[in-house]
Amino acid sequence: MKEKIYLSSPHMGGSEQTYVKEAFETNWIAPLGPNVGGFEKDLENYLGSGNHVAALSSGTAALHLALILLGVERGDEVICQSMTFSASANPIVYLGATPIFVDSELDTWNICPNHLEEAIKDRIAKGKKPKAIIAVHLYGMPYKVDAVKRISEKYEIPIVEDSAEALGSSYKGKKCGTFGDMSILSFNGNKIITTSGGGALVSKNLKHKEKAIFLATQARDAAPHYQHSEIGYNYRLSNISAGIGRGQMEVLDEHVGLRRNMNQFYHEIFQNRAGVKVFSEPNSDCFSNHWLSCILIDRELCGFSSEVIRLGMNENNIECRPLWKPMHLQPVFKNAPYYGEKVAQKLFEIGLCLPSGSNLKSEEKVKINDVLIHFIDN
Ligand SMILES: *Cc1c(COP(=O)(O)O)cnc(C)c1O
Repeated sequence: MKEKIYLSSPHMGGSEQTYVKEAFETNWIAPLGPNVGGFEKDLENYLGSGNHVAALSSGTAALHLALILLGVERGDEVICQSMTFSASANPIVYLGATPIFVDSELDTWNICPNHLEEAIKDRIAKGKKPKAIIAVHLYGMPYKVDAVKRISEKYEIPIVEDSAEALGSSYKGKKCGTFGDMSILSFNGNKIITTSGGGALVSKNLKHKEKAIFLATQARDAAPHYQHSEIGYNYRLSNISAGIGRGQMEVLDEHVGLRRNMNQFYHEIFQNRAGVKVFSEPNSDCFSNHWLSCILIDRELCGFSSEVIRLGMNENNIECRPLWKPMHLQPVFKNAPYYGEKVAQKLFEIGLCLPSGSNLKSEEKVKINDVLIHFIDN
């Protein structure tokens, strides 16, 4: 078995090609077409009534438009969970605003409500109320939705829910992607479903959807000629990509089940091994899609670090990766304010993401098991 085992690779269900073929047969190769509307409907049905979805070219584009719709401008401040992928924070900078980073909490690894409130109070005291709070469901694990919402309401600061990694997760029985004043999804190649590249903006407000689509299609005024009163973007999802998305929606729940099985698989490997902890749902409020399964390694108890495992797995052609490096520790954000302690930093130092795809074969799981046990027991 020479083939590389990846952290998370695209997993087609089967009917994606039917939708793409239909697009070819009807010559809907242009960016817009029936698959785009169809994919948006599929997502709206999945997330539940009252949610309006605009299909876009990426999750990053969705975050950019969400901040624009919330009125973020040059000189503003926007709060963002520090431990995340850089795409959560970059759109703040696209708009000339400043990111204010906040630490994680230990149980969900997501934005810590206490430090969030501390950050808001301090920014207000310094003279600027933050324009938005970007909260992330990291690796599919829901953040403390109720606690973050209470703070958002108390200070009247809207939430942008970054649900790029959490389609299929839920909190108290409600789907992630429905909790923000605006929410975003990603369908990049490594996410739980993929359109080979794509994203979406979700809002309870139909006007947000309409405005997002307007801005994503170059902000053309209603006129026979090309007339513009606002700066537009080329951010709409193509009809071909949306066709892949429609096929993927048919297998989303199945893929969530398979990712959750991978998490169970790691629980079984590590259950009697002191010093290794599999990242798990902290209580029954949280239902994670377990987009990626992650472990924390206590070096003192184990006698080895997460990096030793990563290198050992890599030698055996099995991809593993450190956790997201917190944004306040990134060279590019070194001057941004940060509120918190060292929770995110500590998680980054001792954590590791393990192969978690919904398409891993049983021989591949045997190999992962054997290599992991070999390193841990020796
Ligand atoms: C993938 C991801 C994004 C960006 O989505 P793209 O579709 O790749 O632009 C944003 N936030 C998080 C947390 C992500 O994992």
